[in-house]
Amino acid sequence: MTDEFLDGFCSYLSKIKTTGHMLVAAALFAAVCSLLSLASTHIAFFNVSSPILPFVKILTYIMPFLLVFMTSFLLIRGFARLHSKNEYLFEVAERDDLTRLVNRAGFLRRGQKLVQLAERDMSSLSVIMLDVDHFKSINDTSGHTAGDMALKHLADVLRQTCRTGDVIARWGGEEFAIIMPLANAQGAAILAERLREEVAKSPLHWNDKTVQLTISAGVTEWRHQQDSFEALIERSDQGLYLAKNEGRNHVHLLRSHLETVAGYEQDVCFDEQPDRAPVKSEAAA
Ligand code: GH3
Ligand code: MG
Ligand code: MG
Repeated sequence: MTDEFLDGFCSYLSKIKTTGHMLVAAALFAAVCSLLSLASTHIAFFNVSSPILPFVKILTYIMPFLLVFMTSFLLIRGFARLHSKNEYLFEVAERDDLTRLVNRAGFLRRGQKLVQLAERDMSSLSVIMLDVDHFKSINDTSGHTAGDMALKHLADVLRQTCRTGDVIARWGGEEFAIIMPLANAQGAAILAERLREEVAKSPLHWNDKTVQLTISAGVTEWRHQQDSFEALIERSDQGLYLAKNEGRNHVHLLRSHLETVAGYEQDVCFDEQPDRAPVKSEAAA
């Protein structure tokens, strides 16, 4: 109960951002305290008649007002600074240094929230897991710094191609994960294919070097009331593994229903129709 009250109070205080608002809030606290102080003086000296009583009453109003006003203003300001520093630290803790994308921890936290929303609203949600093909050879032939530049370049391509609400994360090393709210498997597969094409046609030009990049991606859709977030990630990772096995520079869609989605290979049937044969794609090459 106390914690709830404190949480609510802190979240109210954290909304006070400008100096003007801080002054108003401090003045309100001070006015309330001063009125209480005045009322108690009034009650305490109810039967007393003295020529200095009016001055005492003025003092019992003004002194608490000034004291409470100053201390609450300083406290609110201190709280606001602490809150914005906390937000900054929280943000830094969930960002990848190199690419400025969300890191794995940030992805998991955001992803879990988005999955809860999708479950509540019965809306679609999909995940793409992608990995740079033969990235080790980029490091080996062009150097580690070129490799770093290539990762930053790839992050820019992902940022430019994805929608605003998508969460793009550096999952680790040269592997990236994207969570797409409101996207079904087909929509996510189309985006993954567009990403694959964009990356393939935009090599990195750096220090007189041209670094050609390609990616492979696994795509899967959230299954309502059947999936855990971990299962969703694992399935997209399986899709990535299959895309690599299919020759790289390739998108592999994993679906729970073996419906045909033009242009993509779907070979995993999780439980609905286990005996159906894999559907091969013409565009898989
Ligand atoms: P595959 O097509 O199977 O994915 O081959 P790959 O070479 O991309 O995969 P592998 O796992 O063999 O190599 C990944 C390399 O990525 C090895 C590692 O040194 C490099 N790497 C991971 N993180 C970074 C990074 O932040 N910067 C650079 N430059 N290289 C990194
Ligand atoms: Mg790789
Ligand atoms: Mg990898």
